[in-house]
Amino acid sequence: MCQLQTVLKVGGKNGKNANQITTHSEENVIKKYINTYRRKGYNDNDIRRKLGKQCIIVVRINNDKNNDNIITNSAPCSNCIKFLKKNNIKKIIYSLNDGTLQFSKVKHLDDTHISRGQRAILRKKLNK
Ligand SMILES: [Zn+2]
Repeated sequence: MCQLQTVLKVGGKNGKNANQITTHSEENVIKKYINTYRRKGYNDNDIRRKLGKQCIIVVRINNDKNNDNIITNSAPCSNCIKFLKKNNIKKIIYSLNDGTLQFSKVKHLDDTHISRGQRAILRKKLNK
C-alpha cells in the first residue's frame, strides 16, 4: 500500500481557471512543494529525496453539468508523467470516470503520446 505522507492539493473549486489548473495540476503541485521546501532551507537533493517518498493524488472534479459523474478521469498526460519521473515521484493515485481511484507506480505509466484509443487500434493490428 501507498504511504500517504503528504496530501498534495491543488486546483480551484470551479470557475474560469479550473481548466488551466487541472490541465497540469501535477506540475503545479510539485513546483509548489519544491518552492515550499526551498524556502525552509532544504537543498535540491534533499527535496528530491523527499519527493521520492511522496504519493501524489490527482482527482478531477467534474464541472460539466451535462455529465452526471462527479469525479472523472484524471490520469496524467504524457508530459506530466515525464515531469513526475524527472522529479523522482514514484507513486500516484488518480481518479477514473466511474469515481474509483487507481493506484499506479509512475514507472509503469506510459509517457509516450499514444492515446488509449490509438493503443487499442495498434493492439488489434498486432494480433492479426
Ligand atoms: Zn498533464
